[in-house]
Amino acid sequence: MNRKRFSKGEKFVWTVITCLVVLLLLYWGLNELGLLPEALITTENENLTGTSESSNPIPANIDYSQSDSKLEIYFFDVGQADSILLRQGEAVMLVDTGNAGDAETSYKVTNKINLSHELQRLGVKRINYLIATHPHEDHMGSMYKIINLFDVENVYANNILPEGEQAGYYKRFVSALETSNSHFIAHTNLSENEILAKIAEYNANVPESQQVSYNPADYFRVGDVIGLGEASITILAPNSSSYYDTNDSSIVLMVEFQGVRILLTGDAGLTSEADIIQWSRMNGFSLKADVLKVGHHGSRTASSEVFISLVNPKYAIVMVAESNSYGLPDEEPIERLERHGATVYMTKDVGDIKMVVQNGQISFDLGFSHEEKEAK
Ligand SMILES: [Zn+2]
Repeated sequence: MNRKRFSKGEKFVWTVITCLVVLLLLYWGLNELGLLPEALITTENENLTGTSESSNPIPANIDYSQSDSKLEIYFFDVGQADSILLRQGEAVMLVDTGNAGDAETSYKVTNKINLSHELQRLGVKRINYLIATHPHEDHMGSMYKIINLFDVENVYANNILPEGEQAGYYKRFVSALETSNSHFIAHTNLSENEILAKIAEYNANVPESQQVSYNPADYFRVGDVIGLGEASITILAPNSSSYYDTNDSSIVLMVEFQGVRILLTGDAGLTSEADIIQWSRMNGFSLKADVLKVGHHGSRTASSEVFISLVNPKYAIVMVAESNSYGLPDEEPIERLERHGATVYMTKDVGDIKMVVQNGQISFDLGFSHEEKEAK
């Protein structure tokens, strides 16, 4: 047999190729296990988000250091409740409004902010997008007040009704909507043809004066993107209209600005998280986020191991009251977040949290409005 022998040069080339293959396999393996160093993950994240045209219109590799524009996010300390303000330039979004009374009671009485006064103090007049994540009082309690007091352009909500007939805050929300100029946009999982068929069926059974017409702008679906100035906000949930637990019907939003991502989860629980993961895999949408508003006030009913490892946040924000009757937050989700390297901020400890994204960087101002509130 005349066996071919490699020359020294050929041996060197094969050694280099073998090393490259091993390194690529190692990178792929660590990436799949979520064990990559942070610097490498950033590159991976940019690639992933860049591939999803509907999800991230911001091209990767842009230098934001010279940009004047910024995104401000206020996680208000409304006790055992959620209310989050996002402002980019002139564009304003308010996600949830705290409990009933949070917009009208005084800080000194409740030791919480007066939401409507706080919004006015921050110079908010027009709210382009008001998001009702789900119909529980700690998220929608003061929504009627906000609709009555501010120029609210669009209201996003799902079609789930609150448990209990006597949900006064919800009745006030519906009547505030009816007397406002706000455009109500409802969640749907149905296709256009399915909606048209339902409308035709409804119209066939009511007098002509009560018949309704179809307007595509009245509906939103998972995957839709809301433009908030230069920020883009992708709707990731609800993925069903018939969840057993109302918390799972929460509207979940991925906010993207200057390459920074913030995931707002409402009270979405383990079932919704699993559906979000499935949707993200089917659509090539990365769930990686720099900041996570932790689901359901830090309850163990949310924040599964797989969800947290996919989101892998640098910062986690838990909106929760001191000594609340639910005993929240639970230990497991907080330990899980810390094990994944997240810095955890809780409103019960630090009060109001202001976050700013500018020049592609995140900064936090904890307890930002405390002095103003003390002065009142
Ligand atoms: Zn809640």
